[in-house]
Amino acid sequence: MKIHLRQIPQGGTLHAVGYEDAAFLDLEEADAQACSPLEYELDVGISGGGLFATGRLNVCVRLRCVACLDEFETTVSVDPFALQKELDGRESVDLTEEVREDIHLALPAHPRCDAEGKKACPARFSQAPDDASQPSGDAPWGVLDGLKTEKRQKQ
Ligand SMILES: [Zn+2]
Repeated sequence: MKIHLRQIPQGGTLHAVGYEDAAFLDLEEADAQACSPLEYELDVGISGGGLFATGRLNVCVRLRCVACLDEFETTVSVDPFALQKELDGRESVDLTEEVREDIHLALPAHPRCDAEGKKACPARFSQAPDDASQPSGDAPWGVLDGLKTEKRQKQ
């Protein structure tokens, strides 16, 4: 992922928007697979002999749920993304390393397919249904939801 310095207007910022093949992210190192190119939207400028970039990164990633072991897709975002880099006299600046590092930091350490609340993780319902010592179904979550609603109303 390279920024050509000539593209940056003098005294201004370059608004860089686009897609980059996600292969350079090396997501397989983190047991993940990209399911989209990396989408970026950055404002890049030069200040005090260094390059700065701010904006956001998004990539669709396929992860394996730690509870049910099913694969699921989620969007990993770095927002805001920000970096500063010394200029070394070259005509372009390579942001690959910083982008890869930030995406890896944004990956969940313990991915759960129900983390976004869009679906229920099947592993949550795999307990024996006649286990009376455990509250069943969604009851505990219902209570939590109630608390959340109450809090919101108070604000
Ligand atoms: Zn799951």
